[in-house]
Amino acid sequence: MTSDKRYADVRGILVIFAESHLWPNPANIFVIPDDRGFSMVDVGGRGELGYRHLMSGLRHLGLKLPDLHTVLLSHAHPDHMGAIPYILEEVHPRVLIHSLDVESALNPVHLHYTFDIPLAKEKYASSGEHQDFDLLHFFDEFGCLMSAAEDVEEMHEGDVIGLGNFEFEVILTPGHAPGHISLFEKRTGILLAGDLVGNSPAWYTPSSGGLTGYLASLDKLEAKNASLLIPSHGTILDNPSQGIDRIRGKLLKREAILMEALKDGPKSFMELNAALFRHEIIHFFPGCGIIESHLVKLEQDGMIDRNGDVIRLKS
Ligand SMILES: [Zn+2]
Ligand SMILES: [Zn+2]
Repeated sequence: MTSDKRYADVRGILVIFAESHLWPNPANIFVIPDDRGFSMVDVGGRGELGYRHLMSGLRHLGLKLPDLHTVLLSHAHPDHMGAIPYILEEVHPRVLIHSLDVESALNPVHLHYTFDIPLAKEKYASSGEHQDFDLLHFFDEFGCLMSAAEDVEEMHEGDVIGLGNFEFEVILTPGHAPGHISLFEKRTGILLAGDLVGNSPAWYTPSSGGLTGYLASLDKLEAKNASLLIPSHGTILDNPSQGIDRIRGKLLKREAILMEALKDGPKSFMELNAALFRHEIIHFFPGCGIIESHLVKLEQDGMIDRNGDVIRLKS
């Protein structure tokens, strides 16, 4: 099993890696067998393709779907839970998700709010562009269909959840989703950091915790002093604090770019969007949510003034 890069046995946690860390590939899936069957952290997504990926992974591990008894969801995004309806056709495990992501898990239309799509539409109202943007349709077009869960149980900060021989501490880590959680296993030092730590920062929006939430979440993760970090996208990091610091650095680099642009004089929201993101295709989504998250933080830090759409450095 260890020679195949698609799978890993990490101190007893079995990982089914996605083919690529890039969106819209499914998230990595974590499998924990026990004497009753097995549990999973996240189930992946990407419609039929994602389901086949999951099933071939379970086959490789010698497990059968009907023996799945518990699912923990790191957050309610399609690459982490899109495969859920396929699973529910065969078996009805307990499904746990943080209370702040329950609504999106049961009614995915709610993701429009946690991704701040209304805010992005407002920014584009005068141009008339993107006014009919539908986030679920967007996910669907990328082949990463979002699906609803049926019955879920709530998790909360500080809960300790036993899966097999592991005791996972639930850490609420917003920024990317309001109820995004990371899981820390003290005995083994393993940290499952979800989408927060990987090759590049995850999307962030004010309603999901914003930049301030994201940075505070990274601090919380760092304080755990984990010895191994397994991200939801990408490969295992054996120096967790270095990986966490790299993402923090990238977030703060974005802030520095915006500050640099403002040093040249007042800017509009869209000018800052263009200053940070070269590719116009992401200006609407996720660009608007990310820019607004930075502006909220800069305002809180007393660095900028906003007057209508005129944003300037505080003198
Ligand atoms: Zn996500
Ligand atoms: Zn993800």
